[in-house]
Amino acid sequence: MASSLCVGIAGAGLLGRLLAWRLARAGHAVQMFDAAAGPEPVFRSQAPDAGHVPTAAGFTAAGMLSPIAELDNAEPAVAALGWRSIALWRSIVAALPEPRPLFSVQGSLLLAHRADLGAAQRVLARMQAAVATPEWRAASPTEGVQPLDAATLRALEPSIQGPAHAWLLPGEGFIDTVATMAALYSGAVGADWHWGRRVLAVEAGEGGGTLRLADGRVLAFDAVIDVRGVGAQAALPVRGVRGEVITLDCPGHGLTRPVRLLHPRHRVYVVPRSARQLIVGASEIESEDRSPVSLRSAVELMAAAHSVLSALAEARIERLDVNLRPALPDNNPLVEHGARLLRINGLFRHGWLLAPALVEQALRSTGWAPAMNTEQELA
Ligand SMILES: Cc1cc2nc3c(=O)[nH]c(=O)nc-3n(C[C@H](O)[C@H](O)[C@H](O)COP(=O)(O)OP(=O)(O)OC[C@H]3O[C@@H](n4cnc5c(N)ncnc54)[C@H](O)[C@@H]3O)c2cc1C
Repeated sequence: MASSLCVGIAGAGLLGRLLAWRLARAGHAVQMFDAAAGPEPVFRSQAPDAGHVPTAAGFTAAGMLSPIAELDNAEPAVAALGWRSIALWRSIVAALPEPRPLFSVQGSLLLAHRADLGAAQRVLARMQAAVATPEWRAASPTEGVQPLDAATLRALEPSIQGPAHAWLLPGEGFIDTVATMAALYSGAVGADWHWGRRVLAVEAGEGGGTLRLADGRVLAFDAVIDVRGVGAQAALPVRGVRGEVITLDCPGHGLTRPVRLLHPRHRVYVVPRSARQLIVGASEIESEDRSPVSLRSAVELMAAAHSVLSALAEARIERLDVNLRPALPDNNPLVEHGARLLRINGLFRHGWLLAPALVEQALRSTGWAPAMNTEQELA
């Protein structure tokens, strides 16, 4: 592995914080630059006029870790990275400072109302086809989707009422994204964070690389990393895909697993975040519009969630949030590196599912940090 390097990182979102944490632990000097005003999230409902202020998509994400369900939108290679990431999140969360973020792997549920069985069966057929591939079998610790009868569903999640059809996706889970972003920031001991610093270019240079800042400075480092997400449009053909989520306060909701409702027009999910908080998401709109959540999305997402969780009738709407998922033309992730310049982008709708495995691969191939293997190695 490389001796200690001074690494400049552009972007302190999900990937940036994970890289800072990992590189600091590997003994490198890390300098972080982000256009956001500080390390905390800015939710759109708290600052509806803040459409121009960048805030990481990592904060907005519901934190579903769904290698099986994502087969509906992604290739089996994404699922393979996802299984690796779930194993890595377990180790990473165990090594983060207290209070540790909520991370749970007890499977997730797919639900469909009687009238939507046709649409559900088409989605399930796509997942089953992927599960039958050798690539899947080599990477997956589970057999794939399991149908549930009403009694088993009631035993697993007594608070769910209404859907006629249910399936368990074993091995899937969720993570508290806001708490994990905070813990990676405080856990990256020794990293220096520079907020309100927009980076215009990340470039390879003589024996290292440079960050060109909007204030005119050009800073040189032994190595540079570009993880600006949608903010990297000058370097990569990345686009933003709008997503809207709703945070609900619902004391005693009782839900312990993420739930996905199959529906002809939406992929609605409900993810528990604490004993009283739930996240309902998410729209997926091909637009870089960061304006506040539309009435249509809010009504449709909440009505669908309420149709399977009647306790939501008395929930309070804590906030509505919007962000852009960074996606490349093929919707697949990209890891690109030269001797001292690394770019990772295009994590699209599965950044939390992919980030640990991609960071591990990238740091191993650059030689800047070894694979993250077990809890013991990380502790
Ligand atoms: C509504 C929604 C729901 C989602 N749900 C899930 C989910 O359930 N599961 C899942 O796995 N994934 C989910 N995702 C996807 C996940 O959030 C993203 O894939 C992930 O956050 C991408 O990480 P990133 O580090 O590339 O980008 P980001 O997290 O967006 O971070 C980019 C950072 O770069 C900074 N930046 C931008 N431009 C500049 C610049 N010029 N100079 C300096 N800094 C800059 C930004 O301020 C930001 O901090 C969801 C996303 C959205 C929007």
